[in-house]
Amino acid sequence: MEKYGRVYLVGAGPGDAELLTLKGKRLLQSCDAVIYDRLASEKLLEYVKADCDRIYAGKVVGNHALGQEEINQLIIDKARTCEVVVRLKGGDPFVFGRGGEEVLALQEEGIPYEIVPGVTSAIAAAAYAGIPVTHRGSSQSFTVITGHTAEEEENVPDSMADMAKIPGTLIILMGMGNLEGITEKLIKGGKHPDTPVAVVSNGTTPWQREVRGSLADICNKVKEEGMKAPAIIIIGSVAGLNMKASICYPLSGVRIGITGTKDLREKLTKQLEELGAETITVGALELADYSESSEFDQALQSLEQYHWIVFTSSNAVRLFFQRLKELTIDHRKLSHIRFAAVGSGTAKVLLEYGFYADLVPGEYSAIKLAQELVNAVTPMEKLLIPRAVQGSEELIKTLQEKNISYDDIKIYDVLNNPNLTELSQSQVKQLDYLVFTSSSGVHGFFQSSDKRELLKDTKIVSIGDATKKTLNEYGYNIILTAREASVNGIVECITEDDRNFRGGNR
Ligand code: SAH
Repeated sequence: MEKYGRVYLVGAGPGDAELLTLKGKRLLQSCDAVIYDRLASEKLLEYVKADCDRIYAGKVVGNHALGQEEINQLIIDKARTCEVVVRLKGGDPFVFGRGGEEVLALQEEGIPYEIVPGVTSAIAAAAYAGIPVTHRGSSQSFTVITGHTAEEEENVPDSMADMAKIPGTLIILMGMGNLEGITEKLIKGGKHPDTPVAVVSNGTTPWQREVRGSLADICNKVKEEGMKAPAIIIIGSVAGLNMKASICYPLSGVRIGITGTKDLREKLTKQLEELGAETITVGALELADYSESSEFDQALQSLEQYHWIVFTSSNAVRLFFQRLKELTIDHRKLSHIRFAAVGSGTAKVLLEYGFYADLVPGEYSAIKLAQELVNAVTPMEKLLIPRAVQGSEELIKTLQEKNISYDDIKIYDVLNNPNLTELSQSQVKQLDYLVFTSSSGVHGFFQSSDKRELLKDTKIVSIGDATKKTLNEYGYNIILTAREASVNGIVECITEDDRNFRGGNR
């Protein structure tokens, strides 16, 4: 018998990445291949291992998207070569997700599988719009139905009129294309035209939108608002309730696009989301670690020759100490060394390792750092500068002019992550702020196309002057620049601007 790996059908939740289950997260972290749908959040893919095979099941091959048969075959093929395969499906795998068909295909092949339920959009999108699917005294049940069937492609299922007789809340999935037919049939079937209806599109994501109305007028309202699928339609008295969060955060409803490396993105996302903002990764950068090199190892084995170590980023600090540890070099070998850090963020990371920076320039820039170093370094002293491949030339130029001896060792590079699918044009247009945390992030985002028209209502935020300069090169001149080049600085910059802009009005 053929030997197969294990397949997990994992519910990705409705959109908000934090609505994934712990079990789902653990499986994503350990799987060898992940086959995912369009509705699963991009953020979830950040959990997978670097060498995990990521396959988008919604992809177009030739000129048609993969059919269910082909997806089944893809899962089977992957189970042949991989030990753990995650089939990541939006919401819950068994709620209209065709998960059942995938299971039957696996059973037929004798492939071991497991189902990991997920939070379904049918309940979660309603909740995020402030609608409880049941409510004491008003609705004692909810019925989840499809707005179109495979048999009657663009037609409202015949049973829709019968649904009018079911008491409680009706929740319709995949119904946007048939909204008119659905409301008509329900009214014909006996539901009162004034019955409250709510439509929630892109529920639990940064793009969530809601429209409220009645069976009689919801269709027009949805058209007027230009709402599109994916959306759920909630029909019944609960659709007239609003139980949205009562706490209003300073950045509620603000959409912020983020570019940068994982570490920075995670920190920014956390802080901004705590303030109520919606964050969206629009450009991901990845660190390529080159710290394992004979040149760097030699430098670390002979630390006595250096008097200063100069850090121009927190990445450099982390990789430096990581390599020291790998080479089992005791920190006491650093006791004679003085440390320079380009800014407070870098100095803070240095402090995580127990070292206070001896020199941090008043202003975050490589030039300023160079100038202050030149004043602080005595003629016989030597510098070690472990840094990025694309590090600033200005620093080196200034040191050379002053005849200061140094070793400039490239220990990492920052590369564009090609795994991230680009936001659609309409999504880019909806961003209130777009944050850049490095020049490489700017190049990565703008290289492919000119986005000036799309971004005309978006405020561009830069972590510091060097990044700002790169943005200028791409024709962006109105830029908010953080006073302090750090995650805190960016958060402060946006909060302040938003306060001035909206005047605290929401
Ligand atoms: N298994 C999924 C449903 C798949 S069917 C689940 O449990 O949520 C696809 C339909 O789900 C869409 O047409 C839409 O009606 C609904 N849907 C999925 N994600 C949604 C979201 N974030 N907001 C609103 N509706 C969503």
